[in-house]
Amino acid sequence: MIHYSCDRCRRSLQMDEEIRYSVSIEIQVALDSTEYEMGEDRDHLNELHEILERLDDSEKEEISRFAYQRRRFDLCSSCHREYVNNPLAMEAAAKLGFSQN
Ligand SMILES: [Zn+2]
Repeated sequence: MIHYSCDRCRRSLQMDEEIRYSVSIEIQVALDSTEYEMGEDRDHLNELHEILERLDDSEKEEISRFAYQRRRFDLCSSCHREYVNNPLAMEAAAKLGFSQN
């Protein structure tokens, strides 16, 4: 039997008793060039490759390492609730918003 645990609080989830939420996060470099917006059928990886060739080695390494990431997490219901309320894990102070009067 497959066992799941919450990736946030590490609590194990009883599949027959608890709702398990699956969160998928896709992170990619935003390509803002005009060419990119116009050519809808352009190959994104080619585009990325062209951009990478213009950069120096240290920038290249950094970007290619983080250019595209796909992560999957399992969350228990309470962690799911917190995640939905604050998906970017912002500080409590920032979440309240200093600009609100
Ligand atoms: Zn949890």
